[in-house]
Amino acid sequence: MPDQARSDLLARQAAYLEAIVNHLPHGISVFDEHLRLQYWNTQFIEVLELPPEAVTRGVSFDTLLMYPAQRGEYGPGDPVEQVAARRRLAEQFAPHRIERTRPNGRTHLVAGEPLLVDGQIAGFITTYIDITERKHIEEELARKNELLQSIMDNIPSGVSLISRDLQLLACNEELRRLLEFPPELFAEGLPTLETLFRFNVARGEYGPGDPEQIVADRLQRARSTTPHCFERIRPNGTALLVKGQPLPDGSFVTTYTDITARKRAEERIERLANHDPLTGLANRLSLDEYLRRVLAERRRDRARLAVLFLDLDHFKTINDSLGHHIGDELLIEVGRRLQANVRESDMVARLGGDEFVVVLGSVASDGGAAQAADKILACLSEPCAIGEHLLHTTPSIGISLFPDDGGDAAILLRNADTAMYHAKAQGRANFQFHSEELNHNAVQRLELERKLRRAVKEGEFELWFQPIFAAADLHLTSMEALVRWRHPQDGLIPPARFIAVAEETGLIVPLGQWVLEAACMQARRWLDAGLPALRIAVNLSARQLRSIDIVDSVAAALETNALPRGTLELELTESSVMERPEEAAALLTRLKELGVAVSIDDFGTGHSSLAYLKRFPLDHLKIDRSFVSEIERDASDAAIVAAAVSLAHNLGLSVIAEGVETAVQVERLRALGCDELQGYHFSTPLPADEVEALMRAAMAGEVPIGARPGSNLG
Ligand code: C2E
Ligand code: CA
Ligand code: CA
Repeated sequence: MPDQARSDLLARQAAYLEAIVNHLPHGISVFDEHLRLQYWNTQFIEVLELPPEAVTRGVSFDTLLMYPAQRGEYGPGDPVEQVAARRRLAEQFAPHRIERTRPNGRTHLVAGEPLLVDGQIAGFITTYIDITERKHIEEELARKNELLQSIMDNIPSGVSLISRDLQLLACNEELRRLLEFPPELFAEGLPTLETLFRFNVARGEYGPGDPEQIVADRLQRARSTTPHCFERIRPNGTALLVKGQPLPDGSFVTTYTDITARKRAEERIERLANHDPLTGLANRLSLDEYLRRVLAERRRDRARLAVLFLDLDHFKTINDSLGHHIGDELLIEVGRRLQANVRESDMVARLGGDEFVVVLGSVASDGGAAQAADKILACLSEPCAIGEHLLHTTPSIGISLFPDDGGDAAILLRNADTAMYHAKAQGRANFQFHSEELNHNAVQRLELERKLRRAVKEGEFELWFQPIFAAADLHLTSMEALVRWRHPQDGLIPPARFIAVAEETGLIVPLGQWVLEAACMQARRWLDAGLPALRIAVNLSARQLRSIDIVDSVAAALETNALPRGTLELELTESSVMERPEEAAALLTRLKELGVAVSIDDFGTGHSSLAYLKRFPLDHLKIDRSFVSEIERDASDAAIVAAAVSLAHNLGLSVIAEGVETAVQVERLRALGCDELQGYHFSTPLPADEVEALMRAAMAGEVPIGARPGSNLG
C-alpha cells in the first residue's frame, strides 16, 4: 500500500474511532504509560468540567487534574498534593471502580482498567458512567424501605410480606415475638415460608395431623390470592386475628394482631351480661333467653316444662345478723347445690337477693316436678358450713307448669312467684304448685311415698292368697299371692293404692323381693304341714325383671325353702316382657331352668299379639278380668277369649280366667276351653290361715261353690 493511501486509511480509522468514542454516553479517557492523555471524548471534558482548550493530546495527568483539584473537587487541602496522591495511585495501573459524587451534584461510576500491549502496560482507560438518576432512585427506594420497616416496626401487629413464590420478603419484630420464632430461624436472613411452616408444625402450632400434609395444605392456602381474615388460638393460649391482603404485584401482606386481651374482655362482658356475678349462675337475661328457647321446643314436641321459683326462708335474718359476707357465701353455696341437683339441660338462675329460679326443661308429669322440688327442698335444707357457722336454711318453692299454668315466660314466672308466696304462707320449707289440684295431688303422692318408704323399712306388709281352680272339676290347683299393706293407723291398704307409687319410686324392688321370699316361705310351711303341693303364683313387676339379680333371688328363695320344681309361678305383664324382648327371653329361659312356671298376667290389656309371645318360654296365660266380666253380654269379647284360648293351646299354654264372679261366667269360660278359673265366685284373696282352711276342705273333697266369706280388698 502506498504511503499516502496508508495514511489516508489511518486518518479515516482515527475519525471513525473518534466518532464512536464521542457517541458513547459515558466519558472515556485513555492515558499512556507515562500518564499522558492519548484519547478522550467530549463527555470526558464535560464530566470533569475541563476547559476544552486545555485538553490536547499528550497533556499530562497532573495538568488535567489540577483543574478539578483547584476547584476543590477533591476536598479541602493543597491541590498540588491531592493531584500528586492521585497520580501515585494511577501509576500503579491497578483496576479500580469507585462511585464519585461531584460538587455539581452528579454521581459517576468511575472504572479504570490497565491497557496491555504485548503483555506490557501501555496505559489505562477510564470510563465515567453517569449514575446520578439511578442513585436517586436507589436512595429513594432505600428511604422508602426504611420508612416501611419503621412503619412495620411501629405498628402493634406482627406483619409479614410474602412474595408470589412464597419467599418471606419482610417481617417485623412483633411477628417474631407473637409467633415465638427464635432468632436462629432468621440467622441466615429471612427464611422461606415453607421453613416457617415446618417449624410451626414441629412445635404443634396447627394441632395434630400428618406433618407433610399440614405443610402442603398451608402452602396451598398461602398461594391463595383472596383476602382472608380469621382468628387463631395459639397453643400457648394467645388469640390472634390474622388478616391477609394480596398486593397488586402478587405479593401478600399478612398482619397478626394479638386479640387475647380483647377476647378476655369480651368474655368478661358476656359473663357480666348473662351471669350473676356473685354465684356465676345465669341471670334474668339469660333465663329469659333460655325460657324462650325451651318453650318453643316444648310447644313443638307438646311436652311439659316446669318453672320453680325459690326464695330462701329467713335469709334476711342471716344476712342482717351475720353480715353480708356470710350471706353471700350462703347464696354461693345454694347456687352450687341447686346446680348439682338438676340435670345438665335444666337451668338455674339467680334473679337477685335470695331469689332463684330453676327451670326443668322437660318434665313427664306434675309428679316429676314435685319430685324435683322435693329433692331441691331436701338438698337446700341440709345445713351449710360457712366460716365457723353452721347455717340452717330452707327454701319456699313455687311451681308453675307449661302449658297448664301459662304459655309464655312472663306468665310462668309470675305464677311460680305467686305459688312461692303460697309456700311461704303454708309455713315455709315446702313447695306449692300454682294449680290447686296439682298441689293436692302432689301432697297426697309425697305423703304416700314417705309412708311407703317407711312401710318397706318397717315391714308393714302381709301376703294374702287367692285360690285358683281347675275349670273341669273345680279342684284346687294353685293360688295367687297378693300383697297387702297393714298401715298402723290407716289399716289395710289394697295394692291398687300403692303399687304404682312403688313402681315409680323403685320401692317395688325391695317390696317384690319380700313378697317372693314370703310366698316361698309360706309354701314351705304348707308342705311341712302336710298340705298338697300347690302352685303359688307371685306377681313380678317390670322393675324387678330389669334388676340384675332376679334369677339369683329366685334361685335363692327356692333353695332356702327347698321347694320342689313347679311350685313357684311368676306372673309378668305383656309390657314388661316386651320392653326388652331379647333380654326377657333369656331371663325367662333361665327361670324355667329353675323349675319356675311363667304366666302372662292381664292378657288382652296390652297391645301384643299372642303370635309375638310365642318367642317366650311361657306356661300360662291369664285372661284379664275385663274380658271375663263382659263375656255374658258382649259376643265380641267371647270371640276374643275363644281365639286367645285356641291360640294359647296351639302354643302349648294353659289358660287361666281371672275375675270370675258368676256361675254363668264359669259355664261360658269352661265352654270356651279355659283351663283354670280365679275370682270372687270362688273366693276373694284370703289371709294365709283362711286359705289354709280352704286347702284342708279341698283335701276333704269339698268343692267350693259361690263366694267364700272373706275380706275382699281387690
Ligand atoms: P292382678 O295381678 O291382676 O291381681 C288380681 C287382682 O284382681 C287382685 O287385686 C284380686 O283381688 C282381684 N280380683 C280377683 N278376683 C276378682 C273378681 O272376681 N272380681 C274383681 N273385681 N277383682 C278380683 P289386688 O289384690 O287388689 O291386686 C291388685 C293388683 O296389684 C294386682 O293385679 C297386681 O297387679 C298388683 N299386685 C298385688 N300384689 C302384688 C305383688 O306382690 N307384686 C306386684 N308386683 N304386684 C302386685
Ligand atoms: Ca296377677
Ligand atoms: Ca291379673
